[in-house]
Amino acid sequence: MQNQDPCIGLDEARRRLERAVHESGRPVGSVTLLAVSKQQPVERIADCLRRGQRCFAESYLQEAVPKIDALAGRGIEWHFIGRLQSNKTAEIARRFDWVQGVDRERIARRLSAQRPPGLPPLNVCVQVNISGDPAKAGLAPEAVDALCDEIDGLPGLRLRGLMAIPARIATPDERRQEFRRLRRLFDELRSAGRRIDTLSMGMSGDFEEAVAEGATMVRLGSALFGARQAAGQPKEGPAPSGILR
Ligand SMILES: *Cc1c(COP(=O)(O)O)cnc(C)c1O
Repeated sequence: MQNQDPCIGLDEARRRLERAVHESGRPVGSVTLLAVSKQQPVERIADCLRRGQRCFAESYLQEAVPKIDALAGRGIEWHFIGRLQSNKTAEIARRFDWVQGVDRERIARRLSAQRPPGLPPLNVCVQVNISGDPAKAGLAPEAVDALCDEIDGLPGLRLRGLMAIPARIATPDERRQEFRRLRRLFDELRSAGRRIDTLSMGMSGDFEEAVAEGATMVRLGSALFGARQAAGQPKEGPAPSGILR
């Protein structure tokens, strides 16, 4: 198939990630690149996929479903990274491999109960509001351990780690502090015996800092695909074109 809709930033993002991993003295391949494909057409996702990208993330369920359908059977690992509403959990539990951003018990219980029995447990990350910004989703750091306990007891879920989105207004220095605090919490949980392996932090604007502070997964949208439309204005419009269906 002719490649008419390339993922323009993939090679460069991979190079930058590799360099950041190297410079922080960490092993090659120790940081997973998660491609945030929200607002991107399915052809562009397919291009990434052909070039070896396996993990993709979506924030809006209605937008994600037709893409997941169009690319079914292609070996993609789908991550849900949007806000979790309880009326959407059933479909999310059915469609996705990972849910990042679990921050309350009620949602965790629903996702577990609604995970179809034929599928492996849903991988989850607990979202931490590391800055204490009241406008942000996520759990206060002190409350994370209790939710982890809860998730560990749910058969439909597999606790994988922590995720965070830094405060929007943070300066680079403050962001770095936030990454460091999340890393510290992650290390504390692990030292206390919690079996978690994923620290999801860092986006297009700050992923190198996040890697330096210990991220094991970075979530890149605009660095791969170019700028989206105005931030916070999800396009819920027409389904992606059906070429690949
Ligand atoms: C949109 C989004 C990203 C990607 O943002 P970029 O700045 O485009 O890399 C990462 N994480 C979450 C939770 C997002 O909603």
